[in-house]
Amino acid sequence: MSDTVAENVRQFAVFGHPVAHSLSPRIHQAFARQQGMTITYRAIDVAPADLAAALAQFAASGGMGANITLPHKEAAFALCAARSDRAARCGSVNTLTRVGDRWHGDITDGAGLVRDLTERQQFDLRGRRTLLLGAGGAARGVAPALFDAGIAELVIVNRSPERADALADALGDPRRAHSRYWNDLGTLGEFDLLINATSAGRAGGTLELPFSLIGPRALAVDLNYGEIAVPFLAWAESGGCNKRSDGLGMLVEQAAESFAIWTGKRPSTEAIFDELSQQARALHTAD
Ligand code: NDP
Repeated sequence: MSDTVAENVRQFAVFGHPVAHSLSPRIHQAFARQQGMTITYRAIDVAPADLAAALAQFAASGGMGANITLPHKEAAFALCAARSDRAARCGSVNTLTRVGDRWHGDITDGAGLVRDLTERQQFDLRGRRTLLLGAGGAARGVAPALFDAGIAELVIVNRSPERADALADALGDPRRAHSRYWNDLGTLGEFDLLINATSAGRAGGTLELPFSLIGPRALAVDLNYGEIAVPFLAWAESGGCNKRSDGLGMLVEQAAESFAIWTGKRPSTEAIFDELSQQARALHTAD
C-alpha cells in the first residue's frame, strides 16, 4: 500500500478475487471528478484467506472506504463491527466504511437495482410477479430491496434447491416469497419481472428456460453485463420480451450509493452509465 498519498486525498478500494476486470475504479473516479474531489480508488486482488489482513493493512494506510466483491461479501460481513439493517437481512456487505478503528458494513446492491429499474427504466415494481433465478450473493443482495419496493410475489428458483429455500425463509414472508424447483419452471406461469442472478454465463453456460415464463410487457433483467448477459437476454428476446436490461445500470447505481455513504454526496450516474454502455456496444459491434 502506498505511503505517499497526500493527506487530503481520500483512499478507497475494491477487494475481490479476481478483480482486475472491475469497473468500480473507473466509476468512482468519474464520480469524484464530477464532485470536484481527488480520490484514490484501487482494485486489490486478495485471496479469501488474506482478506482480513488486507483490509487491516488498507485501513492502517489511511483507507476510509472499501467495496467488496466476489467472493468476499459474506466473509467481509463477518469482519464488520457494525452492519446496516439491510446488510443484516442479506448476510453480506459490499460497502465498508472506516469509523474510528472499526469497519461498518452496508450493502448497496439492492438499492442499486431498484433505482436502476424504477428511475432509469421507469419500471414500476409495485404489484409485480417476479421470478428470481439464482440464490447466491447477488440474489440475496437484491431480494429484500425488491420486497421493500412492493413486488407482489417473489418466486426463487436455484440450481441447488436448498439455497432457494434458505433465501425464501430468510425473507420471512411465506405468502409473498417461495422457492420452486428448476424442473418445475414450465408450470410456474407468467412473470412481470424476470431476473437472472446466476453466474451461469461466466463459465459459458446457458440456462434452460421455457418461454412460458415471459408475461406480456415483462421486463427481463440480467444482473451480469457485457458478454455474460447475452444468452439470457437473447432468450428473452426470442420469447417476445421487448423490455430487456443487463446489470450495468445496477452496477453504476450501487456504486453511487456507496459513494454517497462515504462522502455524503450523491453523484449523478447518467454520464458514466452512457459512457460504459457506449463502450459495451462498440465492443459488441467489433465482434
Ligand atoms: P454466487 O457465486 O454467490 O452465486 C452464483 C449463483 O449462480 C448461484 O445461485 C448458483 O447456483 C448459480 N449458478 C452458477 N452456475 C450455474 C449454472 N450453470 N446453472 C444454473 N445456476 C448456476 O455469485 P453472485 O450471486 O455473487 O453473482 C451472480 C452474478 O451476478 C455474477 O456473475 C456477478 O457478476 C453478478 N453481479 C452483478 C452485480 C451488478 O452490480 N450488476 C452485483 C453482484 C453480482 P448454485 O447455488 O446451485 O451454485
